[in-house]
Amino acid sequence: MPVIHDAKTVSVPPVTLVESNHQPALIVEKLDFSYPDGHVALRNISLAVDRGEKVALVGPNGAGKSTLMLHLNGILHGNGNIQVAGMPLIKPNLPVIRGKVGLVFQNPDDQLFSPTVFEDVAFGPLHMGLPEAEVRARVARALEQVDMSPYSERLSHHLSVGEKKRIAIATVLSMEPDLLVLDEPSAGLDPRARRSLIHLLRELPLTMLVSTHDMLMVQELFPRMRVHRTEEEAQIRQGLPIVPRHLLEQRSAVGSVRQERFRPHRRVDR
Ligand code: ADP
Repeated sequence: MPVIHDAKTVSVPPVTLVESNHQPALIVEKLDFSYPDGHVALRNISLAVDRGEKVALVGPNGAGKSTLMLHLNGILHGNGNIQVAGMPLIKPNLPVIRGKVGLVFQNPDDQLFSPTVFEDVAFGPLHMGLPEAEVRARVARALEQVDMSPYSERLSHHLSVGEKKRIAIATVLSMEPDLLVLDEPSAGLDPRARRSLIHLLRELPLTMLVSTHDMLMVQELFPRMRVHRTEEEAQIRQGLPIVPRHLLEQRSAVGSVRQERFRPHRRVDR
């Protein structure tokens, strides 16, 4: 897919499609969510991701990106509809959906809690009740996918941040997810680890939704991005004064997002 730089068109390497049918991997419709303290984090969010598509979710701190991601495997529950691979995200479907959505947290220490890399990557398949041979095969495959096969017996907490990020991705790949959801994957990486992670994400033949501030990564990896805004930012762009959140009308909100091809030198607002 092309990325437009002013008048020039630069080709991005093609993304390998997992399957090409018309069933979206993810549909979010009119999602609203407030935290228990009353803070409105998501308002009227709608989003669709096709199978095989890699979509970037960008926006300032506090726009609600992590909150949205935590809805995608039922950690948080808002009002609205979410479907994963055509399956509504409702309580009875949660065990299956948690196997389909691989959520990778921003901080790999939130994901790695076992003594060894092997145990961390085996954790999900073991809890799915898979036989030992299948668990071992999945761990070997997942570590190979992230190019970390020799690290199986290493201690997870001794690894570098870049290595931990790869292992955190392996812990969800071992579940063989349909959708990989990554929160700020390049945060905290040095330039070399960042490049290597971008290469890894590009090569992984999976549907992805990735929140990031890394616009170079967006440019290199994602044919499509969505912009999330805080209420304040949405107002600034509308030329409205900033007023306290509780005085805001219902209409301007984080939900005022739209999808656009990435055009670094063009506005992507409404
Ligand atoms: P982003 O990932 O885009 O930086 P978040 O989803 O982390 O944004 O946060 C969205 C908004 O929700 C922020 O204003 C944040 O302060 C608020 N928020 C996040 N977690 C909580 C919580 N547990 N309780 C109350 N407000 C929260």
